[in-house]
Amino acid sequence: MLLVDDAPINLQLLASALGRGYELHVVRDGAAALDCIRREPDLDLILLDIRMPGPSGFELLIWLREEFPERRLPVIFITAADDEHIQAEGLALGATDCIFRPFFPPVVRARVQMHIALKRQLDRLERLARLDGLTGVANRRSFEERFSIEWRRALRIGTSLGLVLFDLDHFKAYNDRYGHLAGDECLRRIAALSQQIVRRPGDLIARFGGEEFALLLPDTDLAGTHWLAERLRQELEICCSLDQQSFEPNRLPGVMTLSAGCASRVPGCNDDPIELILEADRQLYAAKAAGRNQVVIDWSTRAETGGVI
Ligand code: GH3
Ligand code: MG
Ligand code: MG
Repeated sequence: MLLVDDAPINLQLLASALGRGYELHVVRDGAAALDCIRREPDLDLILLDIRMPGPSGFELLIWLREEFPERRLPVIFITAADDEHIQAEGLALGATDCIFRPFFPPVVRARVQMHIALKRQLDRLERLARLDGLTGVANRRSFEERFSIEWRRALRIGTSLGLVLFDLDHFKAYNDRYGHLAGDECLRRIAALSQQIVRRPGDLIARFGGEEFALLLPDTDLAGTHWLAERLRQELEICCSLDQQSFEPNRLPGVMTLSAGCASRVPGCNDDPIELILEADRQLYAAKAAGRNQVVIDWSTRAETGGVI
């Protein structure tokens, strides 16, 4: 939790009203508060004084909502009891709640607890809404969002954005032969395998459709994108052959392979981001047409995209 107030006595009163059980960051002006918000991604709540020298509490609130709209950090501001216009203004600017001074400590504690509990619930729902229920990796919606963010980032800083689309081979036959539950287990295993291999913090693994997945790889050129897809293909082969010799209850009953299409480019101002997806999809189609269980890439796209290797 972040406490922002220019008067040390107010900070002390607040801290003792909250009691133990919270990790408190205490700062005395808006600039230091913003630093703290940028540095601490796990903040759950801000208690904010309105009147401070330098940026006021309201200015800080406006910065916060503009810079981190997705964080939905609850902000409770603290103001004098006769400031009802200020209260209205603060709430209109996106504050979550308001506490009047002098405050009664149990009320501060109760409101803080309630807003933190609400925020955690919302964060949890938000996380669930982004995940694929079966495999636990990102779902299509979250892929689309991240794809657009990463495309713009790559465009801004001039790095390449890699994309692998892969699809399980003859999965319909696998389901028909071993049953849908075995098919589901197979999807979970391939998602887990991808998570073991694709490990950079910015990388994203998403379930793109039924038995089709996407790996979104920021700052990864064609060679790197191809290398990762090929590793995944080989690891799946190894995993399946180990399973054939094992008696584990959730082993994969039959051999499963994947086909992958890769693409990577440094985005240009006039490029349509959808082209990257279409390119990976074309290569996936080529991998299927060439006999499946392979990774296909069109190395000639290197030159067009500014020579990313
Ligand atoms: P190809 O090698 O050309 O990709 O052949 P395929 O059989 O994998 O492709 P097709 O598109 O004909 O079939 C996809 C199958 O994936 C059919 C569908 O039942 C199965 N599938 C899709 N989603 C799920 C799922 O969530 N669980 C299970 N068990 N199967 C799924
Ligand atoms: Mg398939
Ligand atoms: Mg498919």
